[in-house]
Amino acid sequence: MDFFVQRSPLRGLHAKVAAGERLSEAEALRLLESRDLNALGALADCARRRKTGDRASYIVNRYVNYSNYCVLSCQFCAFARKKRDGDGFELTVEEVVDKAREALALGITELHIVGGLHPSLPFEYYTGMLKALKALDARLQLKCFTAIEVRHLAWLAKLPVAETLAELKRAGLDSLTGGGAEIFNPEVRDRIARGKETAEEYLEVHRAWHRLGGRSTCTMLFGHVESLADRVDHLARLRALQDETRGFSGFIPLPYQPENNEIPVRTPPSGFDALRTIAVSRLFLDNFDHITAYWVGLGMKLAQVALSYGADDLHGTIVEEHIFRMAGAADRQFQPEAGLIKAIREAGLTPVQRDTFYAPIKVWDGADSPASPNPAHSPILEANLATG
Ligand code: SF4
Repeated sequence: MDFFVQRSPLRGLHAKVAAGERLSEAEALRLLESRDLNALGALADCARRRKTGDRASYIVNRYVNYSNYCVLSCQFCAFARKKRDGDGFELTVEEVVDKAREALALGITELHIVGGLHPSLPFEYYTGMLKALKALDARLQLKCFTAIEVRHLAWLAKLPVAETLAELKRAGLDSLTGGGAEIFNPEVRDRIARGKETAEEYLEVHRAWHRLGGRSTCTMLFGHVESLADRVDHLARLRALQDETRGFSGFIPLPYQPENNEIPVRTPPSGFDALRTIAVSRLFLDNFDHITAYWVGLGMKLAQVALSYGADDLHGTIVEEHIFRMAGAADRQFQPEAGLIKAIREAGLTPVQRDTFYAPIKVWDGADSPASPNPAHSPILEANLATG
């Protein structure tokens, strides 16, 4: 038994964790309420090692937001704009393809595409975008759309959700994103994202996608007005759907960012709160293989530490991120692949470049690193390095 666990009030849970037994919701709450972060981290690291050994992953990807116009006004959201606002944007399909073309030259394997619920773009815009991107490079993995976007697209297409997803899949969609889960508790959801889909509707979109053979990630926005019990309830609902479908490839806890919105919370979750949430996610979500430390929201240094608290993935190079940045996240938008590899190595783990479905592409088990991309070849990269 780990030294920290031996001396901790949490030591009674060690045998259960070591045996890979499922934790109850009451035990998850007890872990979240504990102040013994070292013992919690040791337990989570034990659970992570059973899943991923000495490896931790990252992905070479690029984010594209096709538009920030949205018909909804979620209280926590600093990203959305109305048409009357002066700083909204929308991209043509050609502009999205140009961004993809440039990012392919940087070696990306995944394009991550989300936007607001646009008031007037037709369904064909979305299917046309997917087809154009696959025509550019059929190997490019397209991880697109949150559950609420899918419901919006179903409304545009005048089709049931499952048929809409089938249409999107035919057009080239590879994976759904996990965004929009926020917190499932309906009272809290009403306080931070009034008008958004319910927990049941979020889960139903993912269930329908999984039944089509698709995979997706899922998220939890934590550190705002929710209670610790709300976090456990959220995780329990995700665990139950995973028991049913096995369609989630990974879980991404997202720390709340407080700027430019109406929620009366002044600071983002502390490092302590972020680490205990990641650790409990690892321990409670026993049917998930991968827990991501999302460096955009955590900052790279805390994300690196999270690799010792249950996380096994640092997410990606990203290149250009609007949603967290507009809400106050301070870290730069681009992480060079070499930086992700270095962070994983410094944490004592072997870096693995993965694809959208967490399948390994390259294991960096020597001392080598990829050549740094040359900013002179990439206007977007140059801009992000300059502002980073
Ligand atoms: S969180 Fe999404 S659905 Fe809500 S206002 Fe922002 S862009 Fe729109």
